[in-house]
Amino acid sequence: MEIREVQEMCDEWIRTIGKGYFSPLTNMVLLTEEVGELARVMARTYGDQVAKEGDLRKSLAEELADVFWVTVCLANQTGVDLTEAFEAGMEKRRTRDRNRFS
Ligand SMILES: [Mg+2]
Repeated sequence: MEIREVQEMCDEWIRTIGKGYFSPLTNMVLLTEEVGELARVMARTYGDQVAKEGDLRKSLAEELADVFWVTVCLANQTGVDLTEAFEAGMEKRRTRDRNRFS
């Protein structure tokens, strides 16, 4: 699946089933929430924190997907083409950061 298709799929869902986008600021808060949930899984899976019974209701993959979903929502409602944005970021890494880690 291409990133463009992901953006279209998200938009279709939001406009039909979701009944519209939350405001960008609300989605920013939701992104922060999702990053926190991802951090909880990371801390208890790879960090020093120990999970209580039933603590990890969702997997790392699910939490990463949640972060991605809200990121796509924010991109869609603010007119960001994530394919172009990602390609621009990769170009910066290929040029500016070419020797950065050598
Ligand atoms: Mg989540």
